[in-house]
Amino acid sequence: DILFEPVRIGPVTARNRFYQVPHCNGMGHQNPRMLAEMRRVKAEGGWAVVATEQVEIHPTTDVSPYMEGRLWDDADIPALAAMADAVHAHNSLAAIELCHNSIYSSNLTSREVPLAPSHWPTKMGYPASARAMDKQDIRDLRRWHRNAALRAKKAGFDIVYVYAGHDLTIFQHFLSRRFNQRTDEYGGSLENRVRLLRETIEDTKDAVGDRCAIAVRLAVDEMLGDDGLTHEGEGHDVVAMLAELPDLWDVNISDWPNDSVTARFGEEGAQEPYIRFVKKLTTKPVVGVGRYTSPDAMVRVIRQGIMDMIGAARPSIADPFLPVKIEQGRMEDIRECIGCNICVSGDYLKVPMRCTQNPTLGEEWRRGWHPETIAPAPARESVLVVGSGPAGLEAACALGQRGYDVSLAEERQQLGGRLTLECQLPGLASYARVRDWRLGQITKLPNVSLYPASRMTADDVLAFGANHVVLATGSYWRRSGIGPNIDIPVRGLDSGPLFTPDDFLLGQLTPAALPAGPIVIFDDDHYYMGGILAEMCARAGRDTVLVTPVGEASQWTVNTMEQARIQAQLIELGVTIRPHRTMQSRAANRLDLTCVYTARVEPIECGALVLVTSRLPEEALALELAGRRNEWADAGLSSVNTIGDALAPGIIAAAVWSGHRYARELGETIDRDAVNFKREVVKVVVE
Ligand code: ADP
Ligand code: SF4
Repeated sequence: DILFEPVRIGPVTARNRFYQVPHCNGMGHQNPRMLAEMRRVKAEGGWAVVATEQVEIHPTTDVSPYMEGRLWDDADIPALAAMADAVHAHNSLAAIELCHNSIYSSNLTSREVPLAPSHWPTKMGYPASARAMDKQDIRDLRRWHRNAALRAKKAGFDIVYVYAGHDLTIFQHFLSRRFNQRTDEYGGSLENRVRLLRETIEDTKDAVGDRCAIAVRLAVDEMLGDDGLTHEGEGHDVVAMLAELPDLWDVNISDWPNDSVTARFGEEGAQEPYIRFVKKLTTKPVVGVGRYTSPDAMVRVIRQGIMDMIGAARPSIADPFLPVKIEQGRMEDIRECIGCNICVSGDYLKVPMRCTQNPTLGEEWRRGWHPETIAPAPARESVLVVGSGPAGLEAACALGQRGYDVSLAEERQQLGGRLTLECQLPGLASYARVRDWRLGQITKLPNVSLYPASRMTADDVLAFGANHVVLATGSYWRRSGIGPNIDIPVRGLDSGPLFTPDDFLLGQLTPAALPAGPIVIFDDDHYYMGGILAEMCARAGRDTVLVTPVGEASQWTVNTMEQARIQAQLIELGVTIRPHRTMQSRAANRLDLTCVYTARVEPIECGALVLVTSRLPEEALALELAGRRNEWADAGLSSVNTIGDALAPGIIAAAVWSGHRYARELGETIDRDAVNFKREVVKVVVE
């Protein structure tokens, strides 16, 4: 009950303590309807406050090619108003995070010169500099922020942010001794460095405070020790100086990889030690985040006076209906975030985000998928699902919810496919939640039967008598070396001991059991597997070399904000990282690497070679069934489809989505020539 108490925030009241804090999504100003519907579903799911992502206030803070919100002038109001209206439809409050990103502005679209407290190189990866703001610039910035606040109010927002977090924004940069080297009244002492933030809060209150609450999002600890704000030093003092000025404090640690740490590197509630001081300094409501999915933990942080509202980005993405489920006492139905940050990769890659746990995320508007409802089956038919990995489990679950008679056959004793195997790897325990949530839902469905330890042959499938068969038989790692950077099989690869991740996952191979000599892991996959196997080998005390054709270990994890931590961990563990190297040939214990730039050959000693390059679909059953198509009618079979990794190996999120899509589309007429989702097509008005 305590979680469902209303909270007064300045002139507005939140109907409960669930607060979807601002979060990026890769949709931004280019996909306003997709975005509005995604946010609406969260309000429907019980989040009392639903916020935008960061919203640029002026062309001098253009973060293109990143896809964020935009409120440069009145023309941008309707897109944001659509979101505010959608949130209001469920009696929730709409919040907007206004931002000016100073040195994190690219201005590649606007071509304006970026602005900063002091002359500083920009941090967007382009050879450009921001210029130091003079007094006129400061007056301009305050006016732009004020105008944006007025537009936000016009768009219908209830809470307007002044954003000083994540190392991204101009107000944080003014606070920072690193970036603020000014000698006027805006630089020097902390009191001077706080001045712009204070003035902007006052401006915003003055402009819209009659109807809108003013929130401050502040990085209370930059995790840089004395070089930055700390929760015991200047971060603490900033809150003390401004304690009663905003209507709400939204506090976290900086930068974004520290705030949104993955499950591999941080637990639920990891920020509590840093933010708990804030409530002691202010009477205003405090919101914080910590990937909270457990109602007990949420109640605890409220009771212990750590925060007043449970902030969430990822838990609200994985389960937009988390608050409603808690209110209804349906704890077992909560689809818990696994902390994988695939959602974050959408922002990094500038495409609409997706979620591993929630396949409907991003599909609410364009495909009309709702996270909690699914159309009943047009006919009571039977479906045999072969394989119980993420694709098979999701298909079985969603098909069962539609009312199909579902049988799920799995070769192994344990269900879960790659989830069950990979969740045993260091740092990936939470991945089991993808399996467990689906199994939990399936046990409530009397029309879904599970058959573990049941390897299906084509004869078995044809004899089974199902109307539809869907093959989710997964994939296996290649042993040829073929990968994104190797197109021709490498000579002599199997002239010495050769392994793939399958030997560890399925064959229960341990690093200690590998042959003597250095273990060489050749990683041309670039996601987590190569780095994790290197970590395991090094922890087992083995001499470990990670070779990769790209510049960094586990390079794709840049997009999940893990790469720096992975690289640091491998270095600390003593793993030798050989970047920009590919394999030329192998002769027993000698492996010839080549430099990807010069083709210069470097022999290294190799006791065991582990190839983490790419996977092949497990398609034997699909091919055999396709070859026996003439027998389908007699077997009562009208369709055979393949989903997930068995169709084309990819990430777990893609497998879940593939299973969900199959379940949604079974029995529907699909036009294979049409675009099967709505798009935001720009309407050209000829004047
Ligand atoms: P995905 O990621 O596409 O869901 P996984 O590799 O996680 O794929 O899961 C595939 C599952 O299919 C594995 O658990 C595997 O044991 C199972 N499987 C593969 N072939 C058969 C088969 N012929 N009969 C039953 N189960 C199978
Ligand atoms: Fe959580 Fe992963 Fe979904 Fe992001 S993608 S919300 S981290 S489960």
